[in-house]
This record gives sequence, structure tokens and C-alpha cells, in this order.
Amino acid sequence: MRIGVPREIRKGETRVALAPASIPVLRKKNHEVYVETGAGTASLMPDEEYEKAGATVMRTAQEVYEAAQTVLKVQSPGPHPGAGRHEAEMLREGTALIGFLAPFTNSEAIRILAQRRITSFSMEFIPRITRAQSMDALSAMATLAGYKAVIIAADRLPRLFPLLTTAAGTIAPATVLVLGAGVAGLQAVATAKRLGARVEAFDPRPAVKEQVESLGAVFVPMETLEDAQTAGGYAKEQSEEFLDRERDTIAARLPKCNVVVTTAQVFGKRAPLLITEDMMKLMPRGAVIVDLAAEQGGNCALTRANEWVEQHGVTLYGPTNLPATVPINASQMYSKTVVTLFEHLYKDPSKRLDFEDEITRSACLTHDGRIRNDLVRQAVDERKEIESK
Ligand code: NAD
Repeated sequence: MRIGVPREIRKGETRVALAPASIPVLRKKNHEVYVETGAGTASLMPDEEYEKAGATVMRTAQEVYEAAQTVLKVQSPGPHPGAGRHEAEMLREGTALIGFLAPFTNSEAIRILAQRRITSFSMEFIPRITRAQSMDALSAMATLAGYKAVIIAADRLPRLFPLLTTAAGTIAPATVLVLGAGVAGLQAVATAKRLGARVEAFDPRPAVKEQVESLGAVFVPMETLEDAQTAGGYAKEQSEEFLDRERDTIAARLPKCNVVVTTAQVFGKRAPLLITEDMMKLMPRGAVIVDLAAEQGGNCALTRANEWVEQHGVTLYGPTNLPATVPINASQMYSKTVVTLFEHLYKDPSKRLDFEDEITRSACLTHDGRIRNDLVRQAVDERKEIESK
């Protein structure tokens, strides 16, 4: 199959969908790889490395889209500034696309993909089953985000993380509270521990307590919810009553927290509000909050995506693309997950896709001219209705 890799065009995106290291795997199976010039530059993966690995480097995105039967991308398609067209329209009819397709927010792209009979696979919909773990790009990126959130907080905090005993006195360790202890949260806990902080964490899923404690952190004592998890492995939306109790528990701890990293999310929904503006006033002066749920509306009332906010003596930051700040690792990891999914889907490229398979069925967003995923179809229809009013 002919695989195309265009340069990412979204502002601030430094990742590339395919790293040179993944190319020999594809070449061995007789796939051809076409890469737009400069696609890997921001990940420090120059054109020469792609050529050495067996890819053909092309001058423009247009040429890549024309050559490709399957296009690999990081970000969902958007208007291409150079080509003057939407990326979803640059794909040839009947070809395939794999990437983070932002199924609930980029309805325009999804509508065009369906109209153009593109078979698209959304990395957000890889099912949470053991067999699909090596294709789980969301978890891979969440790991990087959790790590980087703590590094940013440690850098911004006007005091140290670890306990230090020096001739000039003893320095008490900083306290870090992590809210939401899924993939990103647990990595934040581990990173803050490695930097020597006192770490506390909370998550409504009861199974998380043991994971937090195994990292040497304290699980905040609060009622967890037995049925907090969906069959798909995500947290369920909590009631306002539960969130009220959770905010009270957090508020009681904030006077001692120098850093809070929030990662609480509910798939496909607005992120739960865990820190109100009044609660920020409870924190010590100079405290730092990093809100990893900024893209889903944020866990803090004052979060503004990708902006630093200073209020009540607290600095708050809501970055939406931390993996792009470590593009070498992010591109390597993303590339691995995308290639594993591609190989799974097209084990035998001469055969039709196997929709009996759970991974293929879950990840496929559009095929044969229609949106296959019910939730996404509903979201796209709702958006269309709003736009037509
Ligand atoms: P996520 O990014 O959707 O959410 C982050 C965390 O926020 C979750 O742990 C969730 O429970 C938590 N959360 C939701 N509401 C909250 C609230 N009010 N307060 C505090 N926390 C709240 O989830 P994730 O990090 O991607 O993964 C969650 C779980 O799924 C983890 O246990 C992970 O190991 C598991 N998982 C399994 C697989 C697999 O089996 N293949 C793949 C990925 C993740």
C-alpha cells in the first residue's frame, strides 16, 4: 500500500505521524512511504533520515495526498494554508486516513470525510482492551503530558520540591496534589515523587487507590464510587452532589498544596469543575496549578487554554498540547501506535476491512460514505442543526 505522511499544519504542532524508525517495518511488508519535505523537522527527524529509511520525500502536501492510499496524520484535518483547501478535501476519494480526528469538535472535517467516502480511523476510539494497548496513542501522549506538567510546575514554583538538609538550614518538601489519577495523573504522581515532593492524589475510581499508594503517594481519603467506570474503561460522569463533596475535600487540603496538577476527564464530556476561583484563594502564595483538562473546558474555573493566569497569588496554566513540547519522544511513540494500528487493519491489504474485529469497528469513524460511530454522528448532526439556525 502507498502510505502518505504530510507535514502537520496546526499551530504549535511539532509532532509527525511517522518516525523514520518505523519505516523499515512498513517497507518489509512492501508498503511504500511518501513523506512531505520537512514533515519531521520540528521533531528533529530530517528528510535525509526518511530517505535513508526507505521513504520518498515529496515537495508538497498536495503530491503526498495524490500519491497516498492511506494518509497518517497527528491532528485532525483542517484548512491547509499553502494549498488553499481543506485537508479532508485533499485526500483522494476512497482512500484512508488515520489520526487524532477530534471526533466531537471537528464536525466539519468529519462531514467532508464521510462525503468523500474516506475510510477514517480515529486514534481517540482505540478500545481499552489488552490487545489494543500498543495502539493506544491517547495513553502514550497522556504519559508525556503527566510528566511535563510536573516539570513545568516545578520550574514555575518559587520554591524547591525536595526535602533538603543543608548547613544553611532544612528545607521542607513541597506538597503536590494530583486530581485524576489515570494515565497522565499517575505519571504526574511518579514524576513529582522522583523530584522529591510529598504527593497526594485522588480519583473517583476505587482501583486507583492501590496504584497511587504503590508509587509512594497518599490517596486522599474520600468516598470513591463503586460504579465509577464505564465498560470502555473510562470514568463515568459524576453527579453534582459527588462533585460538591469532592470540592469540599480538595478545599480542605489546598492551604497546604504548593502545586496542583489536574487531569480529571470524562470521555466525550466537559471536564468536571474541581477548583473554583474562591478555592484558589486558599492556596499558599506562589502556588502553581497545571490543568491538563483545558481542552475539555478545564478542571479550574479560571483556566484559559494555553494561557498563564495569575490570580489570588496563584499561577494557573492550562496547556492543551504538552506532547508537542517533547516531539522527539511524542513522535516516536505516536508513530509506533499508528503503525501497529495500520498493520492490524491491513494485515492483508487485498482483503476487505474486518468490522467483526472490535479494534477496527471501534476506531473506524467514517466508511462507505457514512459516519459509523453513533455518538459522533449525533454530535455532527447537532452541530449541523445549530449552524443552520
Ligand atoms: P481519562 O484521561 O479519561 O481521565 C483521567 C482521569 O480522570 C481518570 O482516571 C478518571 O477516573 C479521572 N476523573 C474523572 N472524573 C474525576 C473527578 N471528578 N475527580 C478526579 N478524577 C476524575 O482517563 P485515562 O487516564 O486515559 O485512563 C483511565 C483508566 O483507564 C486508567 O485506569 C487506565 O489504566 C485505563 N486504561 C486502560 C487501557 C487498556 O486496558 N488498554 C488503556 C488506557 C487506559
